[in-house]
Formats: sequence, C-alpha cells, structure tokens
Amino acid sequence: MMNKFNFTKAKKIIIKLGSSIITNDGKGIDEVFLSNFASEISLLAKNMQVVIVSSGAIAAGLKKLGISRRPSELSELQAAAAVGQMYLIRSFEKEFSKVSMICAQVLLTHDDLSDRKRYLNARSTLYNLLEKNVIPIINENDTVSNEEIKFGDNDNLAALTANLLEADYLILLTDQDGLYSDDPRKNSNATLLSHISVNDKILDEVAKETTSSVGRGGMYTKISAARRASLSGTHTIIANGKNSKVISNLLNDSFSGTFIQSEERQLDARKKWLAGQLKSKGILIIDDGATNAIVNLGKSLLSVGINDVKGKFDRGDLVQCISSSGQEVAKGLINYSSSEVGKILGKPSDKMESLLGYVNESSVIHRNNLVVLKKGK
Ligand code: GLU
Repeated sequence: MMNKFNFTKAKKIIIKLGSSIITNDGKGIDEVFLSNFASEISLLAKNMQVVIVSSGAIAAGLKKLGISRRPSELSELQAAAAVGQMYLIRSFEKEFSKVSMICAQVLLTHDDLSDRKRYLNARSTLYNLLEKNVIPIINENDTVSNEEIKFGDNDNLAALTANLLEADYLILLTDQDGLYSDDPRKNSNATLLSHISVNDKILDEVAKETTSSVGRGGMYTKISAARRASLSGTHTIIANGKNSKVISNLLNDSFSGTFIQSEERQLDARKKWLAGQLKSKGILIIDDGATNAIVNLGKSLLSVGINDVKGKFDRGDLVQCISSSGQEVAKGLINYSSSEVGKILGKPSDKMESLLGYVNESSVIHRNNLVVLKKGK
C-alpha cells in the first residue's frame, strides 16, 4: 500500500455533502456553511474538476412546509424533496456566484447509471459541464426514486458518480471525524483509522458495528460507497464537513480524517467493467489509420476510420473493433446505433450532422469508453 496520498495531483473529485452538513438542524439550508464551502471549492477548482453530490432537499422542504418531524412515509419525503430541491439549488447558486462560479442542477437515479444508454448520456452531459468549468450539483431524483431516502442519504449515488466519471477521489463530508476502529462513544480506546486499504478486513468489522443502528447513511453506507468507488480506482476520503477548513487542509497536507485507498489501477478497473458488460452486439471494421490512432495514440474512434459495420446494435452497446488484418484491437461502448454508423462510416465527423440530422457526439466511440486489447498493425 502507498504511504501517502497525493491529493494535490488529483484531476477529478466528487464531494458528497450529507444532510447533516448542508442543513442546520430544523433550520433549513445552512448558508453560512455553504458560503464557506463555496470559497473552499473555488480553491480546489483552480486545478481540479469538481462535482458535488448534495443531499438536503428533504430537510429544506420540510422546513418550508412547516413540518418539524421527519415523516416516515416515503411519498411525504419525496414531496418534501420536490419542494426543498428548489431552495437547495437556489442557495448553491447564490453562494457560488459570489465566488464567480457557475453551478448546474443534475438529478439522477440509480437506474440512470445502470442503463448504458442513459449512462452515456449522463456521462457526456457531466463531462460537457466540467469542460465549461461548471460545478454540477447532483442529487437523487427523489420524485421517481427513493433508494437514497431509504438507505443512504446519497452515499451510493456519490460512489456511482465516481464510477461514472472515473474520479480520482470521492470525498464524503459528514458530521463525524472519520472511521473509528470501534464506536468511540462506547469504547474509549477506539482510534481514528487515518489510512486504510479498501481491502482491509477491519472495514468488515466497522461496517458490522454500525449496521444495526443505522437506517440511512452512517458508516455502513460510507464503507460500501468506498468499496464501490474503488471499482473505478477511486480513493475515498471521509472527513468532518463541520470543519470549515476541511478542503483547504487536504490541499496543504494537514488533513485529518480517514483515507480509504483503492488498490485497483484505474485502467484495470475500466477494463474489468467493460469486460463485465454484456456480449458484444456488433463489429466495426476499422482502417489502418484508425487502428493506429486508437492503439498507439490513445485517440477516440471517428467515423472516418470505419470501413464496415456488422450486427445490429444501439447507442450504449458494446462493440468490437477489428483491424483490416482481422485482428480484434479494441472494444467499447458506442455512441451511435448500427443504422446510424451505416450512414456515417468513412465520412469525416463534420459531415455527421448533415448525414444524420443531429450529432450525439463527435466520436463514434470515445476513448474513455474504449479498451484497447491488442497492439494492432
Ligand atoms: N435526496 C435526499 C435529499 O436530498 C437524500 C437525503 C435524505 O434521505 O434525507 O434530501
């Protein structure tokens, strides 16, 4: 295991704010917190792409509706979230604009991230926002989905987002200092686990300790989020969001909290993920120029390099790329259906709009969704 974590080298990070951090008990959105958080994020965003996953819609909605006790009925919670999401996002907009940052509201469900077509759509929208230096503020789309309301207060959604974007770090900000070897309220010898491997057996023990007492959130869902995030090579940090310097401390190496190290190399994780996808639905025969571009130069596959298409597939399906000498050189998730590819193959990307009437993406398979299998000729 590596001994230190090089946070300052990170390029893409996901920060998750739990309801206990973003809201003041019963008083709605904590604008003092958000104002400080916005300036902390503006420091990070100088060198990194930042995505925020924020809870707090239900808490804000309950406040607005004058409901003081959290209802147990899910539809009541979903209704509160629909009211509160507006106030949540309005507060983000207000505080982030003070530090000259633009935010975007993105509402997602778990299903959006497991359906490959919607997965690609979510991914390209988020990448597009990040390229424009916009900070996406993600929450679960509580009107149509209530998994996080039931279980996790967005911990899992944040981990899925880390997988989606292959983030370097997932930072879970909570009202605890991090993970302890035992419950610090019951055991005075409990110590803060400052640096552990995601495969460390102690995590099973810690998770067990908290399962019974926790319905939503808690350390159990944080550990499962860290495990899930590690599948895409993402490291997880659990830290106390009540500490107003929590983000700047990460940048100046005086961080305190728990660092859970993923042991997976990002590329391997990606290959495994693609390998685990359903069988290939089709074949693209690509020319030598395209083979060289994707195999040796790490480029995306463009329509101009495709000679032929075989099979019937849809956007988001897995297809194989075969070189002119018959060798399978790569496979990846395709941005266009087989009939669309039939219309654009051999043509330059700037002709796609006139041939199709629209453009999904300028590449046929983006290099992030492409796994090179063999050296081509
Ligand atoms: N999506 C929910 C929210 O933003 C998650 C938090 C919760 O369950 O309280 O309020």
